Amino acid sequence: MLTKDGELELKKYADKEFPQTLTKVNDRIYHAFSFGHSNATIIIAQSSVILIDTLESEPSGRLLKATIEKLTAKPVKTIIYTHGHPDHWGGAEVFAESVEEVIAFAPKNKPLKHTEIINPILGKRAFRQFGYSLSDEELITQGLGIREKRGEKPLKIIKPTTVYEDWEVERVIDGVKIKMVAAPGETDDQIFVWLEDDRALCCGDNYYACWPNLYAIRGSQYRDVASWVDSLRAMSQYPAQALLPGHTKAILGEQKVQEVLENYAGALESILLQTLECLNRGLSVSEAVETVKLPSQYASLGYLKEFYGSIDWSVRGIYQGYVGWFDGNPTNLHPLSDKEYAERLIPLLGGREKVEQIIAEALNAEDFKDWQWALQLCDMLMQADKSSELKKLKAEILLKIAPLETSANGRHYYQTVAKELLGE
Ligand SMILES: [Zn+2]
Repeated sequence: MLTKDGELELKKYADKEFPQTLTKVNDRIYHAFSFGHSNATIIIAQSSVILIDTLESEPSGRLLKATIEKLTAKPVKTIIYTHGHPDHWGGAEVFAESVEEVIAFAPKNKPLKHTEIINPILGKRAFRQFGYSLSDEELITQGLGIREKRGEKPLKIIKPTTVYEDWEVERVIDGVKIKMVAAPGETDDQIFVWLEDDRALCCGDNYYACWPNLYAIRGSQYRDVASWVDSLRAMSQYPAQALLPGHTKAILGEQKVQEVLENYAGALESILLQTLECLNRGLSVSEAVETVKLPSQYASLGYLKEFYGSIDWSVRGIYQGYVGWFDGNPTNLHPLSDKEYAERLIPLLGGREKVEQIIAEALNAEDFKDWQWALQLCDMLMQADKSSELKKLKAEILLKIAPLETSANGRHYYQTVAKELLGE
């Protein structure tokens, strides 16, 4: 969300939320938090170690390996991936020598055919979302964990040796009772892992302590929010004393775990149902964004603040997910192109110079809605003229808005595109 103190709030959150912590759940379960951008769970079994996720890169993987070696001399023989995002498997190769089995689940919905064609633009947008080109000073935080270091790429994935198509699998691995349950949510291949004897639940990325990316601005297929809510409610059926997420701190205590999972599910479901209600009333996307609000009992919770995802973008994602691009208004069946619209409107506003003057005045205003107005007018001018002068102006506006954004992803996106426009 955009708010006067966006950057300040984000900075306070980042400063206090990510101290490197090895949480000892019991004599054989440890949760490694902030050893990298993501987390890993270490299970010391009878004669080996079982690892749930592996952090994101070689350096973080090595740090994890060294941490395990301080706890035990037993080798890591089993790896379970909670899902296929590289920040969870990027460190796996560090354990390649000892690992015998790597377990993952197949996605419950396959990606759309030909998605690989758009991989270059998805990559470019991800680069912007995660702020990879930004310096440490510019970046502050990546929202749900310490930053993935520039240049520290994920290693080559150790491909899963066991891929389950099932919904639930129960195993005893080296003496540890492990139940793996498919839990579509942030991704379609997401699972949670229930350790019955330890009453510990590893939830992957279906819960982390800030508003989730129900929609990712880097571009992704619809994330089925209803299934995500079901997955959270399924997790809350287990009497977990420890909730061990793929990002952000472990949560300890059965009552606290229940409370967090129920509130998280309730908050997501509320945004989903409110958006569908707006849709059913015939509201446009923009009217739905204006209307949908997180109920106050959730809005006050620290773990639902918009430091990663954003409620506005979630509403837009759900709207698009259920009915596609058309909002039901026939005006939008064959709208003028942005270029035609600009060419007709600019003269009515008094011509380019007059519009530039309006932009300058808007940028001097106090209200940041005026800055957004300036940004939209600047885009309109750029329809006719993509001169470096206008690119510079747009970059200036983006950099003025960026500090208002509480979502780390949004903030990085403004900053990175500003750099691109300035040719950096
Ligand atoms: Zn992740």
